[in-house]
Amino acid sequence: MNSGRFNGLDWRTAKWAITSQLAQTSSATRRTNYRLHDWCISRQRYWGPPIPILCCDECGTVPVPEDQLPVILPDIPDFKPDASGISPLARHEEWYITGCPQCGGQARRETDVSDTFLDSAWYFLRYPPQVMRRSRSIRR
Ligand SMILES: [Zn+2]
Repeated sequence: MNSGRFNGLDWRTAKWAITSQLAQTSSATRRTNYRLHDWCISRQRYWGPPIPILCCDECGTVPVPEDQLPVILPDIPDFKPDASGISPLARHEEWYITGCPQCGGQARRETDVSDTFLDSAWYFLRYPPQVMRRSRSIRR
């Protein structure tokens, strides 16, 4: 509308026609802009979906086998971040040291968890077990 020779074109056709004209007159260069960019999706927190990757000195990075999924977070009392910048999970060797499914040697679990970009939809599930534990202790 009110765009000269581009009047009445559907948006896709108009976009192409306008950018073509701008390119022909060297007024602009056509390019694609993506709004999403690379994004770090891990964080050094306790709460979050564990990243199902193991690191083995012999095999490198190894995905956790499907029959061992989901990776369950350990029930630890010190789950809050501290000033060290080290993930709370990295303070629990009994959790992150495990066996390598490929060579049978020792492997380390990923101790970062996925960012809120991935886990915000089920954050509330952190609390039901606490409620259940509390109600059990009240009954005793
Ligand atoms: Zn291995």
